[in-house]
Amino acid sequence: MGFSTDAIHGGQSPEERSGAVITPIYQTSTYKQDGIGQHRGYEYARTANPTREALERNIAILEGGKHGVAYSSGMAATDTILKLFRPGDEVIVTHNVYGGTYRLFEMVLRDFGLVFKHVDTTDLKEVRSAFTSSTRLVFLESPTNPVLQVSDIAAICEIAHENNAVVCVDNTFMTPYFQKPLSLGADIVVHSTTKYLNGHSDMVGGMVIVNDDQIAERLRYLQNCVGAVPGPFDCWLALRGTKTLAVRMKQHEENSRRIAAFLREQPGLEKIYYPGYDDHPQHDLARRQATGFGSIIALDVGSLGRADKVLRSVRLFTLAESLGGVESLISHPASMTHGSVPKSEKDKLGVTDGLVRLSVGIEDVEDLEADLKQALA
Ligand code: PLP
Repeated sequence: MGFSTDAIHGGQSPEERSGAVITPIYQTSTYKQDGIGQHRGYEYARTANPTREALERNIAILEGGKHGVAYSSGMAATDTILKLFRPGDEVIVTHNVYGGTYRLFEMVLRDFGLVFKHVDTTDLKEVRSAFTSSTRLVFLESPTNPVLQVSDIAAICEIAHENNAVVCVDNTFMTPYFQKPLSLGADIVVHSTTKYLNGHSDMVGGMVIVNDDQIAERLRYLQNCVGAVPGPFDCWLALRGTKTLAVRMKQHEENSRRIAAFLREQPGLEKIYYPGYDDHPQHDLARRQATGFGSIIALDVGSLGRADKVLRSVRLFTLAESLGGVESLISHPASMTHGSVPKSEKDKLGVTDGLVRLSVGIEDVEDLEADLKQALA
């Protein structure tokens, strides 16, 4: 089946009893049992819920994976992945992961004995030399937030597998429409479904996709045991969102290319980050391993003062956290997504006080250009 067909039908079929074409919201915490130990596959909604299962099957199919396991947020999904490991295990992490991921690893999970090595994963030599006999996981984000560095997923998977480690890719920015990490050799894919998969900025959720039965069984055990599960209504919203993923991503991409070209012509911008530019350091790799460049663009306007002016002047772009919705958002990574990353780290990554991040939505692109033009002026 093609991507859109899978997005609309995958993992779902009309409901048996009524014939409802759309998977219902099973808004229940518990299920009737017919006798001791006699139930119909559902006992309690932390353990299983039909709406959640439809979403899990749907996104697993889109990622080309066998199992999907849903969580209450992208962070809950990542936290659960890290619970597959034990004290003393080492994790190689892309050095400019999402700030919340950095915070979870450094401020919480380090205290439980996990060792995190923050590595420039765009540099395969650095990746190779970071492995020790204790390395168990490579956690990649590609492209990164907000400076859009791209790592070679297939090459890193090869290195990791030679070293008996598994690879997890945060595929939130690309979505399976543009990039399928499992087909590049990754073992685990994680998503904040809050973003493009849902696409309408009206829920928070996370998803893990794997092929390995044993990893899936442990993730499901943890899902039930820890209980960071999404509610049925949020699952239903995400399931509705994925139906239009292909058309939305096409339009996001088209608008972003136009906005990137427009920004290049604007005077006084110190730097623009967009993997679709042919002089982006990993442009060829981005073209090779994905079928699009996504809709995040970061621009350095030079100073905190100018960034503040731009953020206050936009009328259509909304100053807000998050990304991947149909509406265009603008944000200030240094104080927002990367607020918990130390200044020295931010400087190294290029997350300057003048950096502004755009999540380009699917409005009429002429209106978006006009808005940016007046705000930059
Ligand atoms: N991964 C990436 C790349 C993100 O941008 C985010 C949130 O912004 C997350 C993970 C965390 O997801 P959530 O906010 O759903 O917990």
